[in-house]
Amino acid sequence: MERTLSIIKPDGVGRGLIGEVVKRLEESGFKIIAMKMIHLTQARAEGFYAVHKERPFFNSLTSFMTSGPVVVMALEGENVIEKYRTLMGATNFKDAAEGTIRKAFATDIEKNVVHGSDSPETAAFEIGYFFNSFEIIG
Ligand code: GDP
Repeated sequence: MERTLSIIKPDGVGRGLIGEVVKRLEESGFKIIAMKMIHLTQARAEGFYAVHKERPFFNSLTSFMTSGPVVVMALEGENVIEKYRTLMGATNFKDAAEGTIRKAFATDIEKNVVHGSDSPETAAFEIGYFFNSFEIIG
């Protein structure tokens, strides 16, 4: 069993897409083992995206991520990291496959509705960044 972190980004929450995303997660057979809504501070968003701090879009990305509330979830399932990334679609929605969340709902390379961890190491860091062990129903 593998775990991953999912975030419904401020564009997804603001546009009323929480239910749509959660429905797709559940239909895909992923188990939601933790869930909360939070409004990130600038410092917390910068810490989360620290790996991207040299990228030209870092400031824009962290301001976007603090522009409204987000829904963070820990998901569990077999091969869930890769399966959830497939369900999300490519970072740039223009390259995303039909049937993916980003193809259906993203409006911009940055405002792409959802986040998902990209490796087991990243997932462990990202889940721990938002949830303590008492908040995970595993
Ligand atoms: P992901 O794993 O598919 O989310 O993609 P990355 O880890 O490469 O990038 C993290 C997030 O930064 C993406 O989901 C986008 O919200 C944003 N992002 C990535 N590339 C760009 C870009 O070229 N410009 C802007 N403005 N944002 C970007």
